[in-house]
Amino acid sequence: MPVASLFDRLEPLLPQVQKPIQYVGGELNSARKDWDAVSVRWALMYPDAYEVGLPNQGVQILYEVLNERDWILAERTYAVLADMEAMMRGHGIPQFTVDAHRPVAEFDLLGVSFATELGYTNLLTALDLAGIPLRATDRTDQHPLVLAGGHAAFNPEPVADFVDAAVLGDGEEIVLAISDVVREWKDEGHPGGRVELLGRLAASGGVYVPQFYDVTYLPDGRIDAVTPNRPGVPRRVHKHTLMDLDSWPYPKRPLVPLAETVHERYSVEIFRGCTRGCRFCQAGMITRPVRERSITTIAEMVSNGVEQTGFDEVGLLSLSSADHSEIAGVAKGLGDRYEGTNISLSLPSTRVDAFNITLANEFSRNGRRSGLTFAPEGGSERLRRVINKMVSEDDLIRTVAAAYSSGWRQVKLYFMCGLPTETDEDVLQIADLAKKVIATGREVSGRRDIRCTVSIGGFVPKPHTPFQWAAQLDAASTDARLARLREAIRSDKQYARAIGFRYHDGKPGIVEGLLSRGDRRVGSIIEAVWREGGRFDGWSEHFSYDRWARCVGDVLADEPVDLEWFTTRERDRDEVLPWDHLDSGLDRDWLWQDWLDALDPLGAVEVEDCRWTPCFDCGVCPQMGTEIQAGPTGRSLLPIAAVS
Ligand code: SF4
Repeated sequence: MPVASLFDRLEPLLPQVQKPIQYVGGELNSARKDWDAVSVRWALMYPDAYEVGLPNQGVQILYEVLNERDWILAERTYAVLADMEAMMRGHGIPQFTVDAHRPVAEFDLLGVSFATELGYTNLLTALDLAGIPLRATDRTDQHPLVLAGGHAAFNPEPVADFVDAAVLGDGEEIVLAISDVVREWKDEGHPGGRVELLGRLAASGGVYVPQFYDVTYLPDGRIDAVTPNRPGVPRRVHKHTLMDLDSWPYPKRPLVPLAETVHERYSVEIFRGCTRGCRFCQAGMITRPVRERSITTIAEMVSNGVEQTGFDEVGLLSLSSADHSEIAGVAKGLGDRYEGTNISLSLPSTRVDAFNITLANEFSRNGRRSGLTFAPEGGSERLRRVINKMVSEDDLIRTVAAAYSSGWRQVKLYFMCGLPTETDEDVLQIADLAKKVIATGREVSGRRDIRCTVSIGGFVPKPHTPFQWAAQLDAASTDARLARLREAIRSDKQYARAIGFRYHDGKPGIVEGLLSRGDRRVGSIIEAVWREGGRFDGWSEHFSYDRWARCVGDVLADEPVDLEWFTTRERDRDEVLPWDHLDSGLDRDWLWQDWLDALDPLGAVEVEDCRWTPCFDCGVCPQMGTEIQAGPTGRSLLPIAAVS
């Protein structure tokens, strides 16, 4: 039976809501398929507003991969803003997809991509608007399977009650494998209902079904054990790793948004994974090993993407783009090809070395020089050794000198506050560094209009990293430390006006910490916050720390644990962590040793990048059957002809 579009009911409401264009769909390169001509139907959700969700690479890639199969249909849905939510509730309109305005509840699967944990309350809004029971165990065969993916899915325990399953790692291949299982089960006439379907998915070893695992707790509140409660369910669920990025050059037909979005450019992921070993970095740890796209595939993707979208900006993305083995050739080739056109190229330039300036100069040949960003992350050299991000002060000064003398006027420096072993002194060194940066810039450029912006984020310990055992710094201490830093910057009249200072207060980081390292007991807190109106927690104007703190107190009143227990408490080696049964490939003993190396009282021990040194046995490659794929290929960038 075809599923009717809700657009006729939605259209009269659109003039009454903010940014109605975000609910209309029909973007260039969007897909609209016949409902009855396919056997498996996915609704893909990015749990934030259209303007944030549309550019998300993960959703765009899966949308295309799925829609390329003639037996699968995929549509997109985003979090609706508060005014639209009220309208929909008032008029009985359920959560809908933007492609064909079909009710989300009619699909076979709802795949939700969580880049951050602060989207959890938006998932509950979407489920509730869709008419899908919030708790997985209350759903029937009539409801879609709700699947979580994205980096936050590496610890899905806080949302374990709300999702039917979670998938770890790269999604391209696993979404097709899941579609196959669903198709087969439907063709067989739904034997055993959704529990049987979930059982088949769980038995594959690569789909985590939380309801098939029991969690028991010790009297002091720590986890005792996480055990499968059903035969055929693996004790540990492994992540997925796509090994040949050249064979999966997605997105080939990127979506061009109708409304203004946070990024409006064509982004090419030039490699996946990072082995630099920054100890705080979850993205680096969970995406190992490094897998590069070849220089020729990158060139073809850029050329095709520009043609398919009309975007005039191309971003070369990865966790550390300047580390691509052929980046110099890529920069030179693309610089030549697009010189004199309106296409601008960008490289997230966070690596602190002079080579990066050479690249930035290549990429800005067409004239745009907005600013360069470098991420030393730690304020002092001692702290940078603790986090395994070895950037010396000399490196940084040499790099900014190269930038300012090449004509750049603005440099942004990114740091974190609250890193393990950090003291006030470590953070105050950021002020000294920023002043030296300005002094150097003035000296090498001979100008006074040199700017440096210091941007500071609160450190949140993340699962599957060496810092997963660390105590998070409490909000009051974070705020006090940053207040001292601000004072140190502002009090020096010689430099104060040249240094911008951006930071957030410590409270949102504590909630992120709760959601990052929480266990299943946190699910009821998320639901309580949502019932009290929590929405869009990633947006400072909607976030309420008091609401979270109140709900934590209410929900955990009879538990031996509280907000501090989840966040500012250091864990020991033997504690069962909520995500220990989810296998990112990293060897737990290696992670623990790396944590001890960070804390070494004689000075933290560095770990090199395994791309350029022998393997240091983090465990990922043997565990996942993968290997590093890094060039150089020796090929040249194609096409090499300049655009006439
Ligand atoms: S197993 Fe070895 S080569 Fe593979 S990512 Fe870990 S350290 Fe690098």
